[in-house]
Amino acid sequence: MCTYIMLYLCVSFILPSCFKAFEGRVAQLFGKEAALFVTSGTQGNLIAALVHCNARGSEMICGDNSHMFKYEQGNVSQFGGIHSCQLPNLPNGTFSLESLKAHIRSEDIHDPITKLVCVENTHNRCGGRVLPLQWLDDLSQLCRSHGIPIHMDGARVFNASQESGIPVSRICRDMSSVSMCLSKGLGAPAGSVLIGSLPFIAQARRMRKALGGGIRQNGILSAAGLYCLDNMVGRLGEDHANAKLLAQLVNDGGAGKVSVDLESLDTNIVILKFTGNVDEFLKRMWTVEDTDEERRELGGSSVVVKCFPWSESAVRLVVHCDITTDMVKAAAKKICYVGKIMSK
Ligand SMILES: *Cc1c(COP(=O)(O)O)cnc(C)c1O
Repeated sequence: MCTYIMLYLCVSFILPSCFKAFEGRVAQLFGKEAALFVTSGTQGNLIAALVHCNARGSEMICGDNSHMFKYEQGNVSQFGGIHSCQLPNLPNGTFSLESLKAHIRSEDIHDPITKLVCVENTHNRCGGRVLPLQWLDDLSQLCRSHGIPIHMDGARVFNASQESGIPVSRICRDMSSVSMCLSKGLGAPAGSVLIGSLPFIAQARRMRKALGGGIRQNGILSAAGLYCLDNMVGRLGEDHANAKLLAQLVNDGGAGKVSVDLESLDTNIVILKFTGNVDEFLKRMWTVEDTDEERRELGGSSVVVKCFPWSESAVRLVVHCDITTDMVKAAAKKICYVGKIMSK
């Protein structure tokens, strides 16, 4: 009975108050009025686009390597009838502001209406790059002068903050909305958060319901979110240090067959260049061939490294809270060994 009452109290009072406490804390951390728990990063970005581009004939501008353009099924047009325009992303995750200016639509009757500009920080496809604050400030000035809001896909914005030493409230100061992932580097079981003004979040809340994202027992996920804020945000520097260590070990031991461009390594994403067949390299990284040679080269252990195909000459590795420094050292050995035996 007692246990039952405790459980009941927990489910009906403590956990529901968790989600209010959680959303409130996120809003405060980002220096905005309100926040909304959403089921995924994709849902957060979609809701933001639907709210900002709420009139037919709207266009949004984003980078051609952005997650919103490349990896979300064109959902903004699928569900919102939003036209999108892509500007070429530069290697550091930005795009040319001159080009942006040239693509903002006029009032000509032939033109759609430019309703939104989207940026991504850190930039996944560009290898986890941190957007320079000066660029964000220049972008904001340009957009403000045209009355266009900016949405930041900040799935990894805490990584950007950790690396630059700039608080998320400053990074996002001029953003009208931000979406942030709990379930990537922060390690939560699920969820993302959308952050913005009170009127924006009020509309976003309606849209979330329409998209099936109104989770009834949200408190339990928000409790995990609170844990992330208290315990996971502050340790992201460990991931960045491990990513740098991995890159260095690969460059030292890879004999030029496998390598990482240290210049473009900002955070927890490591892009590994490989001179041979990437698909075969990946297969070999995923498997252990129990030969004396492999065991000797890897110091007696069997190592599997999960990596992701990135291009014809590169794979992506991501370091996160479940990857220890010892695992990084073991992975580097395997990468160098496989690189050596499989390169052309
Ligand atoms: C992962 C990711 C998303 C989408 O998050 P999901 O939770 O997988 O839908 C959006 N943007 C970026 C930059 C991401 O890395």
